Amino acid sequence: LFSGVPTAPVDPILGVSMAYKQDTSPQKVDISVGAYRDGDGKPYVLKCVFEAEKRLLGAPKEYLPIDGIPEFNKLSAKLLYGDAMNGKEKRMVTVQTLSGTGALRIGVIFIRKYLPAGTTVYISRPSWANHHNICKESGVPSAEYTYYDPQTKGLNFQGMMNDIKNAPSGSVFVLHLCAHNPTGVDPTPEQWNQIAQLMKEKRHIPFMDCAYQGYASGDLDRDAYSARLFLNSGFEMFSAQSFSKNFGLYGERTGALTIVTHNEKYIPAMLSQLKMDIRAMYSSPPTHGARLVQTVLSDPQLTKLWVDELKVMSGRIKDVRKKLMDAIVQRKVPGTWNHIVDQIGMFTYTGLNPQQVEILVKKYHIYLLASGRVSLAGLNDNNINYVADAIADAVAS
Ligand code: PMP
Repeated sequence: LFSGVPTAPVDPILGVSMAYKQDTSPQKVDISVGAYRDGDGKPYVLKCVFEAEKRLLGAPKEYLPIDGIPEFNKLSAKLLYGDAMNGKEKRMVTVQTLSGTGALRIGVIFIRKYLPAGTTVYISRPSWANHHNICKESGVPSAEYTYYDPQTKGLNFQGMMNDIKNAPSGSVFVLHLCAHNPTGVDPTPEQWNQIAQLMKEKRHIPFMDCAYQGYASGDLDRDAYSARLFLNSGFEMFSAQSFSKNFGLYGERTGALTIVTHNEKYIPAMLSQLKMDIRAMYSSPPTHGARLVQTVLSDPQLTKLWVDELKVMSGRIKDVRKKLMDAIVQRKVPGTWNHIVDQIGMFTYTGLNPQQVEILVKKYHIYLLASGRVSLAGLNDNNINYVADAIADAVAS
């Protein structure tokens, strides 16, 4: 019966992480997965989450409504859009989702069902690989837009603008709110302004993927600049929020999808359809993570603690960037390495090629993506010099 089932390709990120787990070398280093580690290389439960968890001990495990906890949904939208909301909440619908991935998936299904047939979803080149999977599995055409310039290891702004201009009017553009994954390269505010203006002229639809709010700069408002700009510019738009990284809730699958329309009268019908899709897929979302986020965001003291912790986490990553760059430069490794500190968020796109990456993996047991993406969270004072030595050897080989 099942003899014809072909083996699917291994996920490029999770596959590397699996290989790391199987490696028995004491020297092994995991710089593949985008999950925060503290200065000792340990996973970190945020103190604000710990405190919220204490308060929630014994909370009922009843089913949630199909669209999740109403207060969580409100707080999530407010966190992202902040002052830009300013009465626009009437034209927004938010549903609690299975983290950022679930928000993207529900949003893309909505696009397939209710946007004009053939509407294409444009994804940055490169991007988080799951964007393509989600579109493919949802039966939505996807295409790429220019983003990264390997020469400058920065943004190919002109290329991006050309692709926005040349895409058919009314296309969907998946834009990373901040801390672009995998490159760590974000447009400047001035570039965002130009992007928004051109997208408006073309009547494109922004789909903000918000997986790292608070992680890029440690400032929640600053990191939300692009989403607020689009909202203030009058777009109808989508946003997928993940609380995996900024609250450290990876396995709790906590997120939200918000859709903004021009006219509040469409909201009840839109919500009814979102609920239909959710009901048919998984009935209702999980309770715990959303309750944690709700508890933190509705208590000013816990929110302050959270913001302080975000600063610590994003600060440690910035510190690691500098240390890694200094260690590489100290070893006189050919090439320029300032992009390591110029890029932002959890990742650096090192520019190492697949052969060099293979040396790191095979010879040094250092696990990173074949694209050369390094998750800086996996680095600390105990392994930075080892990794820099290995990079020096790989580049020289
Ligand atoms: N978008 C991007 C760009 C991401 O990096 C991630 C996390 N790796 C996600 C979405 C979604 O992650 P999750 O489903 O864990 O919220």
